[in-house]
Amino acid sequence: MTILDGKQTSADIKAEIAEAVTEIKNKGDKTPHLAAVLVGTDGASMTYVGAKVKACNLVGFESTLIELPEETTEEKVLQVIEDLNNNPEIDGFIVQLPLPKHIDEHKVLMAIDPDKDVDGFHPTNVGRMALELPTFLPATPYGIMELLERYEVETSGKNVVVIGRSHIVGRPMSILLSQKRAAGDATVTLTHSRTKNLKEITKEADIIVAALGIAEFLTGDMVKEGVTIIDVGITRVDDASKKSGFRLAGDVHFESVSKKAEFITPVPGGVGPMTIAMLLKNTLLACSRK
Ligand code: NAD
Repeated sequence: MTILDGKQTSADIKAEIAEAVTEIKNKGDKTPHLAAVLVGTDGASMTYVGAKVKACNLVGFESTLIELPEETTEEKVLQVIEDLNNNPEIDGFIVQLPLPKHIDEHKVLMAIDPDKDVDGFHPTNVGRMALELPTFLPATPYGIMELLERYEVETSGKNVVVIGRSHIVGRPMSILLSQKRAAGDATVTLTHSRTKNLKEITKEADIIVAALGIAEFLTGDMVKEGVTIIDVGITRVDDASKKSGFRLAGDVHFESVSKKAEFITPVPGGVGPMTIAMLLKNTLLACSRK
């Protein structure tokens, strides 16, 4: 069994990006600049945004964090986005999701200039991804593709089962893995909450991408020997032995599944760190495109 080490791989990618930034600076070109918009004080969102800003500093990017109070109006958020779209200093920006309920997420994502949409959530970029045109790939699926590629996990002709059909993980994963590309060419089955007999389907899978958000859902009896496991889930589970009072659990029951797996991502230290590295990669791309 080989651990697909997202922590190490993301560190490698960040080192590559840092090197590219040094070159950019030596040439006197513009330093990549990522901005993040955070509305409200959701604990997990604050942690994620904090990690993104820290990663920017690590690789030598400029970063701007715009923190808005929970009660900020939709109009104000749209104004902030308009300002970022028009600010030539900013190469790319993200709006941390989820947004407070009174703000229409779709409207906000639609307002982002597709050329600065480094999360790859704008319909223009989703369409470009589906059509295999150059674009910003959504960071989590992009990170998974990169992990598969760097560990040379064979995907061509393999039976892949994706669990979960969200716009940010499951759906794009199913599209990318089925495309003619590196870490692609797979035969993909996209499963979801209405799927019947999921266990019969997962037992046939060569590769499983678990992205449903239910802690330790996928167990050893649901997979075959030699399977490759990508665990996207991050759920906070109460744990009195931790100072924080919780631990992070994936969607995979690691102990039972890892016994049968050829490759497996851990949680934490698997897909999570890759997501941030790919956001940086998209920002570098946004800057170099100018
Ligand atoms: P989501 O809630 O938007 O979607 C969950 C999907 O799972 C839905 O499509 C639903 O149909 C499916 N589902 C629910 N119950 C199911 C069941 N019993 N059987 C089969 N399918 C079922 O979730 P999301 O935004 O895609 O996130 C999924 C998980 O991944 C969450 O734990 C989230 O925190 C995590 N996540 C991690 C990263 C990362 O960087 N590692 C990034 C994004 C999301």
